[in-house]
Amino acid sequence: MGRYRGPVCKLCRREGEKLFLKGARCYTAKCSFERRGYPPGEHGRTAQFRRRRESDFARQLRAKQKARRVYGVMERQFRRYYDESLQRRGLTGLNLLQILESRLDNVIYRMGYASSRTQARVLVTHGHFNVNGRRTDVPSMLLSPGDIVAVREGSRKRTYFKELPSVATDRTTPEWVSRDVEALTGDVVRLPERLEIDGNLNEQLIVEYYSRR
Ligand code: SF4
Repeated sequence: MGRYRGPVCKLCRREGEKLFLKGARCYTAKCSFERRGYPPGEHGRTAQFRRRRESDFARQLRAKQKARRVYGVMERQFRRYYDESLQRRGLTGLNLLQILESRLDNVIYRMGYASSRTQARVLVTHGHFNVNGRRTDVPSMLLSPGDIVAVREGSRKRTYFKELPSVATDRTTPEWVSRDVEALTGDVVRLPERLEIDGNLNEQLIVEYYSRR
């Protein structure tokens, strides 16, 4: 499955807020948004001073784009997630967010085994993780409650994973995942509730975006 390969910080500037796509760098003064918090492009600097009333469509589009960018998902796959969220029982918007949260790369990020979803994605594609005892290199794999994630035996002697227990201990994890940082394992306890997912995402606008098309 494809992924965005362009400049990542531009995405934050386009959305007008920090999306924390680069891990530790996002919390330093090197963050592009801190230095240039206006939209990218030739007229970006002047655009920030222009007061424009956004149409409903523009707001829906921005909400959808932001969620795509936060989770690093391309349009076609995002649309597939939306279609699947329609099939599930319950609220479509919440279903969509739960699907996005159950992606393997996101679960690894939530467990604190990567500093960003992008890094988690790289670690997965390089084959450093097992899911339920089987090696996988598919970051978009959807996990269910009870699924167990573990760093593979052969990867544990790498410097990154040797240092990971002490690094990961400082990272907080939501209650819907549990982990054993010394063993470098973790499991999905249940699906996340709305309050446990990024409050800045507006799933209602995303549903409206796809409903009108
Ligand atoms: Fe966004 Fe992080 Fe880049 Fe800052 S450093 S602009 S938060 S991706």
